[in-house]
Parts: sequence; C-alpha cells; structure tokens
Amino acid sequence: MRSSGKNNKIAVVDLETGSILYKELTMDMAQHIGGAAVNTLLLKEYSHQTPLVLGTGPLTGGFAPGSCLMVASFYSDDKKICHLPVVVKSGVMLKLSEIDFALFLGRSQKDCVVVVEKGRICIEPADDLAGLSIPQTVKQLNSRGIQEIALMAGPNSTDPHGAAGTAVFGGFDRCGLAGFMKSKNICAIVLKGGGKIPFAAKDLQEDRHLTAQIKKQLPKQKSMSVLEKMVDCNLAKDLVKKYFRHSHACFHCPVGCINFLQYPKKHRESSNNEDTAKGVFILDHQGFAALCKKRPQDAHIFMGRAMALGLDPQALSEKLDPGTGFDQAIAQMENVATAQRKEQNNVMDNIPHGISGDVYHRFGGALPQIRPQNSKEPFGTWEERVAFAMIVGVCPIPLLLQLISPTALIPFITRDQSQAKIYHSNLEKSIKMVLN
Ligand code: SF4
Repeated sequence: MRSSGKNNKIAVVDLETGSILYKELTMDMAQHIGGAAVNTLLLKEYSHQTPLVLGTGPLTGGFAPGSCLMVASFYSDDKKICHLPVVVKSGVMLKLSEIDFALFLGRSQKDCVVVVEKGRICIEPADDLAGLSIPQTVKQLNSRGIQEIALMAGPNSTDPHGAAGTAVFGGFDRCGLAGFMKSKNICAIVLKGGGKIPFAAKDLQEDRHLTAQIKKQLPKQKSMSVLEKMVDCNLAKDLVKKYFRHSHACFHCPVGCINFLQYPKKHRESSNNEDTAKGVFILDHQGFAALCKKRPQDAHIFMGRAMALGLDPQALSEKLDPGTGFDQAIAQMENVATAQRKEQNNVMDNIPHGISGDVYHRFGGALPQIRPQNSKEPFGTWEERVAFAMIVGVCPIPLLLQLISPTALIPFITRDQSQAKIYHSNLEKSIKMVLN
C-alpha cells in the first residue's frame, strides 16, 4: 500500500465465470480523487455488464473523523446512477483487503455470498441462507466463521421496499440496492481485510484537534446528536429518551450517532423470536422518525421488525395504521413484506425545500435531511457536502451536522498548499460530475 492511504488497485469480478482481474487506477481516475467519482467512471466503463461498484476514498481508513465510508454505486431501474453510503467499518475493510474499488459484473448462476479478503475474492454458495431473516442470516454466516458483513440484500430484496444494510445495523438504502444485489444473485458481501493502513504523523495531531472540536459541539445527551438537528421529530426524541441504552460509533467516528434502544421488558420476555433480541440499533434516523409518527409508543419494535425483514421502515410507516393493535400491526407489516407492491417509494415527495429530491434519492434516500446553515462556504449545500464526503471517503453525517467543515479535512489528503489548490479544483469537477 502506498503512503497516501490508497492501494490504487481495482478488482473486476465476473460473477458468471468467477474470474477476477486486477487493474491499476488510471491517471484520469486518480484526478477524480476516489469514492463516488471514480465509481461513476467505472460504472460508465462497464455499463454494458450491469456493474455494481464498491469504492473507497483517500480518507477512508485514516485519521479523518468518520473515515469508515464505502460507497456502493449502481444504475437504478430508471438508468440513473445511485451512490449509497455504507458505514460501520465497510470502507476500512475494503481498503485492508488491498483494493480500493471492487466491481461485480454480470450475474452469478446461483445465490451467493461474495467474500473479499486480502489477496483473494471468493464466491461462496448461499443455499443455507434462503428465506432467513437478517439476524438469522448473520447467525448462519457467523457459524461459517464470517463476521464482517458489509452488505446484505435481505429476505425481501425483490420487494420494491426491500432495503440493503450492514448486518444488524441496517443502512440508508431507499434507492433499490437490495433489489439490484438480488438481480445479481448476491445475498451478502463480506469484507475481511487485515493489517494496517499507513498514515502521516501529522494526521494524528490533526485528528486530536478535530475530535476535541467535534466533542465540544455534541449535545449533552449523545443520543440526540442527529435528532437534535432534524425537524419534526419530537415523537422520535421522546421514544429515544425513554428506551436509549447506549450509542454505537462506526470506525473512527467521535459522533457515535447509532442509538441502541432496548425493547420493553414485557416484549423481551414474551418474544420467542430471535429477530427481536433485546433491542434495536437505529442508524436510519429519518426512517425511525417516520415510524414514530405512526407508533409513538413502540416504533422501535417496528423498526427492529422492519430491519429483520430487510424492509425500508419509512415505506412501512406509510402503511401502518396508528389505530391497530400491536399483533395486528405486526401481521400487517409482514403482509406488506410479502406482497408484491407496484407503487414506488415516494421519498422524493417529502424532501425539505432546498434539497434536490433527485439527488437525495440518488444518495440512498435515507440520510438526515439537515440543510447546512451557511451554504455559501465551499461545498456548502446539502448536495455538495454529501458528494464531497462520498468522494473523499468519510461519512457525510458529521458534515451535515456541521461538526466539521470540508476544508478541515483537506490536510488529511495533502498539506502542500499548491497541491491543495489542485485537489480543490479536482474536487469541484468531481462533485459536479457526481451531482449531474
Ligand atoms: S456519524 Fe453516525 S453513521 Fe456516520 S460514521 Fe459516525 S456513527 Fe457512523
């Protein structure tokens, strides 16, 4: 690995034949920095082979806050390019497998699990995963010695409201990645890198400074770090206050916005379903807030159920009736899961003024809808901030919460002033390309 934190390597996997080809990044790709921008170039180059691209940025796996990011890119049904942020530690694991980008072409003949590890990529059978819920799939993969599950299509991946996610944490998929994975017969993608990513000594100092700054700005109640800035989510705040037990942070993130909410005692004791376990991790705050409007007392239980079934909680909130009893509502939810609905998710209808509905949807359709206050700064709008994060390889949420500015992250890429100017101008071009 080179000292810049880049491997400069692309793995091209043909799912039909199982063959794998390794390529170097071209000069043009290097000028587009990484992440969603390079993914776009790769999608265009292989467009005739229905590619799925996983990519990292130069900051992924390093000391920049929230450097966990991997970007999953694909052409949606309407031929638009979608870039889904995948957090927890996916990007780091991809980088540690000594590649920066992985392309999956064509379609596997049978359901499969793709395992990417240092020096090799294996396509393993998935016969034992048929019909299993997400927690059951995790358990089954664990029994094969697999822990690092970056993406799972889920048992309802053919449903229009199927949502891909990272094991029990869920994710930000309201743009159809689950169905796209299923169309390639990929049930899960496992990333098992190992070793260390080199870093510049000054990165450590910079990181301490930024982390301290971020921590100072976080609310006293850590569980509110995202909800505090979202509008129209008082019911979600009330439920979090009642059931919050601890927060979970992705790789190298001082924000730790993933809330673990415990289920009520009665539910924990009466449940004989391992899907529901003790509680639920909430990463998709928008989806949770939507469910809370319909079920202010027990939305977290419904969230857990939706995640176990691999379904989008926001789409389900539109189907739930606040007047139905608990068991009836759960049954209604499962009917929704199995029915083949025709209508598409209408995430674009509810986007706040000032955020492009089209761009919001193409970045997954589930990121917090928080408009930055001073959009005159460089890369200051919601769209530019998310595109910036998705190119350099950090989680967009700390940037949307305005805990950190894009310019504060540039020193992790270069400290040379003339180099920084070139980077800035390349970033502008790359962001434009990704947003077009
Ligand atoms: S802000 Fe939240 S989702 Fe993003 S990296 Fe940090 S903990 Fe993960």
